[in-house]
Amino acid sequence: MEEEHKRLQGLMGIYGLEEKEARASYYVGMAEELFEQISEDAYTKGVRSPQFEGSRRRCSRVRRHGRSSLALLATVSLALVLGVMAVVFLQGRAAQAQQLESTSQPAAGMVRLTFDDGPVRANTPRVLNVLSDYRVKATFFVIGQRARRYPRLVKREYREGHSVQNHTYTHPDLTTLGPVETRRELRATNRAIKAAGVPRPHRFRPPYGHTNARVRSAGASLGLIQTLWSVDPHDWANPPASVICRRVVSNVRPGSIVLLHDGSGANTVEALPCIIKRLRAQGYGFGKL
Ligand code: ZN
Repeated sequence: MEEEHKRLQGLMGIYGLEEKEARASYYVGMAEELFEQISEDAYTKGVRSPQFEGSRRRCSRVRRHGRSSLALLATVSLALVLGVMAVVFLQGRAAQAQQLESTSQPAAGMVRLTFDDGPVRANTPRVLNVLSDYRVKATFFVIGQRARRYPRLVKREYREGHSVQNHTYTHPDLTTLGPVETRRELRATNRAIKAAGVPRPHRFRPPYGHTNARVRSAGASLGLIQTLWSVDPHDWANPPASVICRRVVSNVRPGSIVLLHDGSGANTVEALPCIIKRLRAQGYGFGKL
């Protein structure tokens, strides 16, 4: 009960929701977590391919594991239907709710480096090596599909003190998807991150930065705060390292969130020491989200 009270207070405080709405959102979250747990159990009991084909196939897998799972699943499904109704109700309010972009509370003199689209075998370890050499903590927004493929890299990111967050499962433009698909993208990524032995994410970054009130609300209903960026050097387009460095350093302000890529961007790793050294020389520190 105490846990429930705390989470309700949190929802009311952070999202600016009234008690009735916070309660609805809380129960949606509970149902989601239960559903996630069941799916994860089914996955670890021998399902090999990422379960991205939809809930129908997932149901048939769970059925093999006995009646109790089926009964539980039916209960959860009912809870989810109620949850979806609550979400529809909440969507109208979500647009008015306080914006949860992390730029709203910039820390003085602090920069956040973020790396998107990994993990990939070639680049991610190199980025981690540079961060480790310079003792910088950063945030990785991982693609779920790649996290399933390279769970050890995800674990390494976490083990070395970085933050691992959600960048969807297949990197779609979320504004083109319905709420069910959007939530499925985010949930499947949460599961992939947890399966790698890393704590559940609390932030998501919509691919391409394409978002709207519905996308934000889908993330919020799963406890994920939408997090964009304020400095974008377009490193993915492979400009020279010196150009990436200059674009970052000349645009950073206290509290900036810098968008970089470990999943693409041939010159990003080479630009990193320059970015870190020059920002440090200006008195900046580095934090994670
Ligand atoms: Zn991306």
